[in-house]
Amino acid sequence: MTLHKVGRLRRALKRAIRPETFLHRVAESAQRCLWRYAPRCFDWRPNLESIDLDITTRCNLGCFNCSRSVGVAPADESLSLAQLERFLRETAELSWPWRSITLAGGEPTLHPELGKIVERLAAYKRDHADCEIRLVSNGHGMRVQEVLSSIPRWVTVKSSAKSSNRHVFHSYNLAPIDVPRYRNADFRRGCFVAEYCGVALTRNGYYGCAPGGAVDRVFGFDLGLKSLALLREAAVREQFATLCRCCGHFKYNYREPQVVEQATSASWQDALEKYKRKRPVLTLY
Ligand code: SF4
Ligand code: SF4
Repeated sequence: MTLHKVGRLRRALKRAIRPETFLHRVAESAQRCLWRYAPRCFDWRPNLESIDLDITTRCNLGCFNCSRSVGVAPADESLSLAQLERFLRETAELSWPWRSITLAGGEPTLHPELGKIVERLAAYKRDHADCEIRLVSNGHGMRVQEVLSSIPRWVTVKSSAKSSNRHVFHSYNLAPIDVPRYRNADFRRGCFVAEYCGVALTRNGYYGCAPGGAVDRVFGFDLGLKSLALLREAAVREQFATLCRCCGHFKYNYREPQVVEQATSASWQDALEKYKRKRPVLTLY
């Protein structure tokens, strides 16, 4: 059986298992295990059924090697309520079959209008009971804890309960194009994040994955797709051809070891210098 066929079988099985069930959790753990130990054996497919809504770049931690670069490239930018409503409108018009919608960031509890966002998603959840609504938080500090305690039970809260900004992470800011062995890789391939976490929406549009959107925020390629109708595998792979060149997660395809200290390669140093002098202006969604 070819890798492609194995991939198709794996994805079909995944679709057949209902989310939020014991079997789903077991399947996810098995998959994570395989991804961890045999990443080269996978043909990653962009997951167009799950989406991370990166609703804010605010964060109260600023971790080393953060996959949104909120520490090394701070900003106070949020997805507006109007943009969220547009996302829900597009979803309804296209009958887009989301299996999960995840509120992410930065730290999503620091979005100034989180309550209203949750309200809008409540209406969506009423009509789409099978779609899991999630919120991922660092769980750090009183303010975040307070907001988390007010999140309704139909939202699955995933708190990483961070107590510091040092963790074992992929070297996100160490661009593969700065490492000779990866320089000529097929960047359209993407990595496990594209399949595991799904696509993303930021204030600048849709991306094949959230870390890719964060690359764009700092480097300023302005590749965000401005309509859900444009979100297709070919368009996402086109984004990867540019974004994965700079995203350190790509190296995970080759089991590059994770790091604790901040790792920043030449391309990122250059982009961050420019970012400090003048932030790129990207078009809005
Ligand atoms: S808590 Fe999350 S978003 Fe915030 S800096 Fe750490 S990794 Fe990045
Ligand atoms: S390498 Fe980075 S930008 Fe490319 S798919 Fe993976 S997480 Fe996304």
